[in-house]
Amino acid sequence: MKALTLTGREKFECVERPTPVPAENEVAVRVVAAAVCRTDAKMWRSGHRNLVLPRVPGHEICGAINEAPGRLFTVWPGKACGACEACRSGRENLCPAMQITGFHRDGGFAEFLTVPRSSLLEVPEGIGAPMAALTEPLACAVHGIRQSCIRRADRVLIYGAGTLGVLLAVAAINRGASVVMTDPDADKFARSAAFRSRYAIGADADPSSGGFDIVLNATSSAETLASGIRRLAPGGRFCLFSGLGETPENPGVIFSELHYRELELVGSYGCTRQDMRDALRLLVRYGHDLGFLVERTVSLDQVPAIMQEVLAGKGFRQLIVGN
Ligand SMILES: [Zn+2]
Ligand SMILES: [Zn+2]
Repeated sequence: MKALTLTGREKFECVERPTPVPAENEVAVRVVAAAVCRTDAKMWRSGHRNLVLPRVPGHEICGAINEAPGRLFTVWPGKACGACEACRSGRENLCPAMQITGFHRDGGFAEFLTVPRSSLLEVPEGIGAPMAALTEPLACAVHGIRQSCIRRADRVLIYGAGTLGVLLAVAAINRGASVVMTDPDADKFARSAAFRSRYAIGADADPSSGGFDIVLNATSSAETLASGIRRLAPGGRFCLFSGLGETPENPGVIFSELHYRELELVGSYGCTRQDMRDALRLLVRYGHDLGFLVERTVSLDQVPAIMQEVLAGKGFRQLIVGN
């Protein structure tokens, strides 16, 4: 089979290798569509201390299995121990023994991969492979909204209107929140205009306005933390959905805001299988309006050429199909 392996900094090799054989409790998945995420581009650019090369990246996957012809599946890109405190309390994304597909294990930038059988989720009828490949990022958004404890009619501000910003908006709307979004890239922001108007999502017209119950960042820009915290209503909550590229300039100010106005700061990292199941339900409901999130389809050979663009975060998702 064909596989795209990361062999070094900014080095991809498209190789022929034996089709992987599933171990016990695993299943072989034929990749139908795999989305290229900015995390993949970051691995390509800078590696990671726990990343052992060569590795096939790809954790946003829609595939098929031999034993269920004609059906599509998506993959929870985790393998948790199932026994630790985090796993037993429903926080398997925090399992210390976590093995992530596309990071610790070979992922979806290939014709086939093997995954734990328990990580496979069937895609409901009516959702095509391109949308199904977005289940994992949507599940991460669902997780962020869960961590934010959003209630009906909460006023929500989302920084960043890329793929994850839009998916956070979907999950927030589904909770009955009133959502406002902003993105410094006007061209990119314009591309979600039809979606935003259909779901009455406001554009953040006045960056000095406040009164938000929840703020989430879908951008690594550090200044969104300080400004988002300032714009919270008393008792509001900031969800650190995206990691920050650098340390915020004046963390002291942030802490005193938390103290005096009883604000909360919460993190969100990855997703659980329950988030994946919830995401599939959201795709049934909203998927037909999310087609714009698939920017372009590419073949495996074309992936090295798009990494720079993915890293720059200008567009929506690029999808590998037709292996
Ligand atoms: Zn991703
Ligand atoms: Zn565990």
